[in-house]
Amino acid sequence: MSGVAIIGGGPTGLNAAIYTARADRRTLVFDDGGGTTRDVDTMENVYGFPEGVTGPELVDLGQEHARKYGAEVVEEEVVRIEPDDERYRVETTVDEYAVDGVIIATGADYERPAIADVEAYEGHGVSYCVECDAYFYRDSPVAVVGTDNYAATEALMLLDYTDDVRILTNGSPFEADEALKERVAEAEIPVVTDELDRLTGDEALEAVVTKEGGEIPVDGLFVALGTAGGTDLAEMLGVPVDGDDIVTDPDQSTPVDRVYAAGDVTGGHQQIATSVGEGARAAINLLEELRGADYIDYKKLDSQPA
Ligand SMILES: Cc1cc2nc3c(=O)[nH]c(=O)nc-3n(C[C@H](O)[C@H](O)[C@H](O)COP(=O)(O)OP(=O)(O)OC[C@H]3O[C@@H](n4cnc5c(N)ncnc54)[C@H](O)[C@@H]3O)c2cc1C
Repeated sequence: MSGVAIIGGGPTGLNAAIYTARADRRTLVFDDGGGTTRDVDTMENVYGFPEGVTGPELVDLGQEHARKYGAEVVEEEVVRIEPDDERYRVETTVDEYAVDGVIIATGADYERPAIADVEAYEGHGVSYCVECDAYFYRDSPVAVVGTDNYAATEALMLLDYTDDVRILTNGSPFEADEALKERVAEAEIPVVTDELDRLTGDEALEAVVTKEGGEIPVDGLFVALGTAGGTDLAEMLGVPVDGDDIVTDPDQSTPVDRVYAAGDVTGGHQQIATSVGEGARAAINLLEELRGADYIDYKKLDSQPA
């Protein structure tokens, strides 16, 4: 029985594991106990959880589900992966494993802005995700912290929820592409370049205080500073990376045989729903490749005229 190493025990990796374990492949899910999901108190937009669900609960349920079909969760940190004849050798801080296929699902580390008290207000006004949390700030004053295209697009997206949006660059120049700068200007989104000192508010965020002592009233502060993904393992295998993201084809494959990547580590929308979808897609296509074939959409073939 050939084996699969899934590096990452978040929703992406665990959902991939459900597919590979059910297909009777030995499935090793490497999990060093970190990851974004475990850090989030309430996840919104998760199918089947209308009241939201905690990140740790999602991980526990995912582990239970994957283990039910025989996936093994290996609580070790992967430090190296390299080709070994026709297989891959996965080295952790304690052991080595030989596998036939690899799915990298190591997630991303979200960058915190250099403003005092940010951590204290996470979940109480500070958010890293417009799609997740903008809904809670409809018609309220909000701001985006960031300096580039990411900040500009997040600010423009926020206009679906409120007219009171500004961009705070925290002392840096605003460096979005000209086309985006124009859209920001047309939308009359103020860009504030003052240096920021700290956040304030009783139980929830009420304002950002500048180094000069000015107060910018905001109920929601959206961080758009980019992410640092687990691209080191990909680079060891010769998988291309773009900044902090692993580059994949739309089927989650990489140019390296039987190596796939999925979830936050590949950038994109970085949601639970998209991550588990990518995990499933990576697993289905890896299974096809292990069977010796590229993925074929048989339904489409059947619908072709003879
Ligand atoms: C503050 C915040 C709030 C959010 N809110 C929402 C929300 O409401 N709704 C929503 O849909 N999305 C939300 N997101 C986004 C969502 O959390 C991510 O899209 C999702 O967690 C990505 O899952 P993942 O499995 O790709 O990565 P992760 O959950 O980060 O999992 C990565 C896994 O890889 C493991 N790992 C990494 N490196 C190694 C290694 N070398 N060896 C072994 N294991 C390793 C980690 O231990 C972890 O198990 C939020 C994100 C943030 C930061």
